[in-house]
Amino acid sequence: MAAGRSLSRSERKAAARAEFLRQEEQRERRRQVSRILRKPAAERSADEAMLLSGCQEMVRDLERLRKKRERLRRRLEEVCDEPDELKRKVSKLSAVVRGAKHLIVYTGAGISTAASIPDYRGPNGVWTMLQKGRSIRATDLSEAEPTLTHMSIACLHKHKLVKHVVSQNCDGLHLRSGLPREALSELHGNMYIEVCTSCIPNREYVRVFDVTERTALHRHQTGRLCHKCGAQLRDTIVHFGEKGILQQPLNWEAATEAASKADVILCLGSSLKVLKKYPHLWCMSKPPRHRPKLYIVNLQWTPKDDLAALKLHGKCDDVMKLLMDELELPIPSYDRMKDPIFSLAVPLQPEEECSHSRKPVTPPASLHEVQLGEEQQMRPDPPSGGWFGRGCAKGTKRKKNS
Ligand SMILES: [Zn+2]
Repeated sequence: MAAGRSLSRSERKAAARAEFLRQEEQRERRRQVSRILRKPAAERSADEAMLLSGCQEMVRDLERLRKKRERLRRRLEEVCDEPDELKRKVSKLSAVVRGAKHLIVYTGAGISTAASIPDYRGPNGVWTMLQKGRSIRATDLSEAEPTLTHMSIACLHKHKLVKHVVSQNCDGLHLRSGLPREALSELHGNMYIEVCTSCIPNREYVRVFDVTERTALHRHQTGRLCHKCGAQLRDTIVHFGEKGILQQPLNWEAATEAASKADVILCLGSSLKVLKKYPHLWCMSKPPRHRPKLYIVNLQWTPKDDLAALKLHGKCDDVMKLLMDELELPIPSYDRMKDPIFSLAVPLQPEEECSHSRKPVTPPASLHEVQLGEEQQMRPDPPSGGWFGRGCAKGTKRKKNS
C-alpha cells in the first residue's frame, strides 16, 4: 500500500483479521511447544524436536516461566533443618543473643500454632485457605494459652536479653505470657482489648473474652459503651485491608524506636510478607552495614532470607527450647493463675454481662468456671464476626457481589 494513504474500511478489517489469525496461530504454537517441553527429551519425536529448534525464543520464554512457577512453589514449601544442623545454628544464635546490645524480636502467627491457632500463610493457614476459597472455622481461641515460645520471650525480656517485641498477632498471648505492655507493640491489635477513642487519652478496656465478635472490616464497634463518657467502644484490630490508627495497643512509636536502636532482630514464625512493608522496622534508611543483623526462624521462605545473617528452618518452639538450653535459662511454664489478663481486665457491669457470647478466659477450676459454663449454654446463637480472618472473608464476598 502507498505510504501516506489511509486504509479503507475493508482493508482495516482484513488487517485486523490477519492480525487475529496470526496471534491465534502463535497461541496454538505456544500450547504445542509447551506440551512438547513437558515430555522428557528422550521421548520427543524428530518432528517435535525440529519444532522446538524452530522456536527457540518461545522455548526460552516458557522455560523461564516454568522456573518462576517452580520457585514460587518452593517458597510455599515448609522446610525443616536436620536436627544436628538446627542445633549448630541455634548454638550460633545463642552467642548472638548473649552478645547483642539491643535485641528485638518480631513475631508472627507461626509462634502460636502450638497453641492451636492456625498460622497465616502455612499450608493450612488463614490466608492460604481463603485464597483457595475455603472458609475458616472459628476455633475457640480463648482456649489458647501462651506457647513455649511466648514464655521463652517473656523470660528473655526479664533477663534483659530482649528489649522489645513487635508482633503481628492479635491473639493476646504475648501479654498473657507476662511480657510487660511497654515492651510490646501489637501492630494488628489485641483481641482482648477494646478502646474508647472519645476519651483523651484513649481509654482502654482489657477484657477476659474476645471483644471482636461483632466487628469486621471497617466496622469496629464492639457493642459496649465507655464507663466514663458513654461513647461506643471499638476493637483494636487492624482487619485485613485496613491500616492501624490507634496509639495503643499498636504502640507503633515504641516499635520504630526499638528498631532504630536495634543491633539484632530475631524474626520468629512470620512470613515477613506484611512486616517487610514497614521500612522503619528494618532501618532501611541506614546504610546496609549499619542495619541490624537479621536472624530468621521460619519453616517457609521469607522475602528477607537473602539479607539474613542466619536462617533457621525449624518450628519456633523447637528452636526456642534449644536456645534456652544453650543460654541455660529455664523456661517458665504458663500458669493460668498468674495470667496478667485477670489483673488487667476491667470487669463488665451487670447490664453488660450478656453483651458477648465468646467463652471467657477463666482462672483454673474455680466455681466461677462452672457457673460460667452453665450460663454459656443458655446464651443464644453467637453473632459471627471477629478478628480471626473474618474481615478478610467478608471483604472477598463483598467484592464478588459488586
Ligand atoms: Zn470514653
